[in-house]
Amino acid sequence: MPTAAETVEKVVSGDIRSVARLIREIDDGVPAVRDVLKALYPHTGTAYVVGITGAPGVGKSTLVDQMISHLRAKDKTVGVLAVDPTSPFSGGAILGDRVRMQRHSMDDGVFIRSMATRGHFGGLTQSTRSAIDVLDAMGKDYVIVETVGVGQDEVDVVRSAHTTVICVIPGMGDDIQAIKAGILEVGDIFLINKADREGSDKTMSDLRLMIDMDQKKYEDGTWKPPILKAEAVFDRGVDELIEEIVRHAEYLRSVYGDLRFRARKDKVREELAEMVKARLLDTVVGRIIASGEFDAAVDGIVRGQVDPYTASDDLVLPKIVVPDDE
Ligand code: GDP
Repeated sequence: MPTAAETVEKVVSGDIRSVARLIREIDDGVPAVRDVLKALYPHTGTAYVVGITGAPGVGKSTLVDQMISHLRAKDKTVGVLAVDPTSPFSGGAILGDRVRMQRHSMDDGVFIRSMATRGHFGGLTQSTRSAIDVLDAMGKDYVIVETVGVGQDEVDVVRSAHTTVICVIPGMGDDIQAIKAGILEVGDIFLINKADREGSDKTMSDLRLMIDMDQKKYEDGTWKPPILKAEAVFDRGVDELIEEIVRHAEYLRSVYGDLRFRARKDKVREELAEMVKARLLDTVVGRIIASGEFDAAVDGIVRGQVDPYTASDDLVLPKIVVPDDE
């Protein structure tokens, strides 16, 4: 086992094998990874993170593949994380990797990995965030995080991105509803892919209507999400997407000054709260469940000797020090 310092040195120098192993260990929730991440932290903060989300089949992988080519043409290095929280195995995602890897696999400036994110190590958001840190420390200019779906998990994941692109295709009325209910507020750019298909104008006006409902929000110069059309498979609209991403980055810089994810109090607050929760779960809850007291309490409840409310109080309260004045 290399030491944390050795791993950090290798990651920072761009060693593919060390990066791949570290990301796998993050995904698997290997405890020793924490020390590596701590030592890696000073090397993070330069990558621009783009989230790409949308239902399966809308063309995210095709789009990301084209984005890589466009960014490489501008001499930018690119890391890609394909996150699939819905899959219990990484099988499907690995296949996707291979297909995409073929085109860019000989290129040192590109690194693509999928994560199954089995939810270890402080959950999906945290393991994705940690993997972003790794690609950032590795020196990638752009890190693209591709996630499947439009649910709460994806919302949490894309919160780690500077710019979030929500992909839809023409005629997905249900998806528009889902976006309305769930992720409208996290979309910085909306992209209608497969615009070669019928119905893209209708989808455009549906989205426009949805965004315009919040018109008041944009009156003070707040970023108003543009709606773009693209045909990823034919490489149409990809340059325009990248232009909008750059424009959004300029907007963020004008508002926040510093583009580091951890320069923003709101983001740091969310992240730290999550990490504290995860740490508590890992340590305190783990210890309680592993203890004989826990099993005894289970037996007590089964036999009707104690109620679960009292039992949980008895398990937890003695373990936490409550200040006198509370
Ligand atoms: P993902 O599941 O969102 O990653 O979607 P994929 O990138 O795997 O694409 C799903 C299918 O849609 C593939 O067969 C692509 O070739 C196809 N596709 C991608 N973009 C376009 C497009 O702009 N127009 C059309 N007609 N098909 C597309």
